[in-house]
Amino acid sequence: MKKILLTFAVLASLGLNAQNNTSYWQQHADYRMNVDMNVKNFQYTGDQELVYTNNSPDTLHQVFYHLFFNAFQPGSEMDVRSRTISDPDRRVGDRISKLSPAQQGYLKVNSLSRDGKPLKYEEVGTVLEVELDMPILPGEKATFKMKFEGQVPEQIRRSGRNSSEGVALSMTQWYPKLAEYDFQGWHADPYIGREWHGVWGNFDVKLSIDKSYTVGASGVLQNANEIGHGYEDEGVKVKSKKGDKHTWHFIAEKVHDFSWAADPEYIHDKRTAADGTVLHFLYKDNPEIKENWKNLQPKTEELLKFFNEHIGPYPWPQYSVIQGGDGGMEYAMLTLITGERNFGSLVGVTAHEMAHAWFQHLMATNESIHEWMDEGFTSYISSKAMNEVMNQNKENPYEGAYNSYLRLATSGVEQPQSTHADRYTYNAAYGASAYSKGEVFLAQLGYIIGEENLQKTLKRYYNDWKFKHPTPNDFIRVAEKVSGAELDWYLRDWTQTTNTIDYAVQNVQEEETGTQVTLERIGVMPMPVEVTVNYTNGSSKQVYIPLQMMRWEKPFEDAENVVVKDDWAWAYPTYTFSLEEPLSEISSIEIDSSKLMADINRENNVYQK
Ligand SMILES: [Zn+2]
Repeated sequence: MKKILLTFAVLASLGLNAQNNTSYWQQHADYRMNVDMNVKNFQYTGDQELVYTNNSPDTLHQVFYHLFFNAFQPGSEMDVRSRTISDPDRRVGDRISKLSPAQQGYLKVNSLSRDGKPLKYEEVGTVLEVELDMPILPGEKATFKMKFEGQVPEQIRRSGRNSSEGVALSMTQWYPKLAEYDFQGWHADPYIGREWHGVWGNFDVKLSIDKSYTVGASGVLQNANEIGHGYEDEGVKVKSKKGDKHTWHFIAEKVHDFSWAADPEYIHDKRTAADGTVLHFLYKDNPEIKENWKNLQPKTEELLKFFNEHIGPYPWPQYSVIQGGDGGMEYAMLTLITGERNFGSLVGVTAHEMAHAWFQHLMATNESIHEWMDEGFTSYISSKAMNEVMNQNKENPYEGAYNSYLRLATSGVEQPQSTHADRYTYNAAYGASAYSKGEVFLAQLGYIIGEENLQKTLKRYYNDWKFKHPTPNDFIRVAEKVSGAELDWYLRDWTQTTNTIDYAVQNVQEEETGTQVTLERIGVMPMPVEVTVNYTNGSSKQVYIPLQMMRWEKPFEDAENVVVKDDWAWAYPTYTFSLEEPLSEISSIEIDSSKLMADINRENNVYQK
């Protein structure tokens, strides 16, 4: 009887799994670190305890850690790539090759054990390769203990000491970080140029640093009333402590990275947003930027509200906007941005980096291979947010992205978006592909399935994929489920090829019963086609030609003004339809007057009498 019941229980749970499609799994890592920073020579030591849970169905015989700071050494892959690519990032150039030993970065592992037994490991550039004498079985936990030491490089890219704006420590990609293992296996990518993929988990970090320094970090400060520096509760008088250092204790939960920044001259402002999220602002005490940084604070709250409403609620207790780094870069519960900017640029960079809290940190795509989901989705939602929060009133807030994509598509150097982020021939082509073409992916999806379906898709994507690692297929499946349309063709052509869209009005001629219009598909990429017909009496109407392979028709809000024609099957290069009105009553005919379809040649889209 017992056995039968048990079988039933197993079957029931299997049934549930099948329904929820929970073949998805992800690894888990809990870090405990104690770090001691020497602000005079920029060297630090640390110990790390990592409890790793193998939730995969696989037996693991090795593990890998990232040692990102080793990239900032002459001869590293980052250095050589920057000196051999024809359009290097200006911030990097040949600067790494000129670093003296005292200016370089490094991260060294001094000891590593698993469950008390020492392990064999080898440092290979920015990756630590670790052999396991005993495998980690599916479902098993392993505890790794490590001692490490590092040196913070001169600020060249993303992290470092003494930024051009005088920020002492921008500490990102700074600790030995376990590489992610997922359904595609290990992702022990070397640090060459960009993009990350991390293991979900919790961080408990104790950081000792000269007590004059104010720290901003991922996580929530546990000993705020002891540390002060603007973190203390209202009304608390912080007692001065003996010794030269403070030990800051941060806990960050349900994240896949931990970053921090510190400076002895930071101003620290705090603001609690309407949703309860505590916003922290840390910036240099520089009279030239103070006003902008004060005015940024209510705008940041508006941005948070916009993203909460348009994607889904920000799930962590706090978010910090910190002056640091060399541009703008997103991290867990914080961003590092340069601060000496005009106000529009300061709000713009904050909008972009804050949006990454959703499209990078919460829906944590593997950025190395799906960079367009990370940068593109972020650019899309921040363009939309800026339009509202800064009252830009642009009819098409994505216009800049379309223009940038069109330049890319006609440049001859475009590579498919499925290219690894480090493997683009030109940095500029990476940028246009990831940011602009990625932004257009979403804006154009709104053209294909309708704005309402797109907005519902973003919200369901949040619901289904927060705190996970979604793939492009996961996203398009959400869009398919929300809309009911077949969209696999869109994902494939747009992201895995460089096929382009070009539709044209080929011929317009009078016929006995009205006017005959012939359209032509010149580009290889399919699209549903919307045509605006303008009449000499000032009226207009929309003609919608569904794309047959979508097995679907788009819903229109003003349906009475839209004529839905028969499907256009892709392989036919031309498509002819009739209008009741004689040619004399028609003033112009235009394909896609919304300009949301990324047609690479708009000159042939219009028939004008
Ligand atoms: Zn970005």
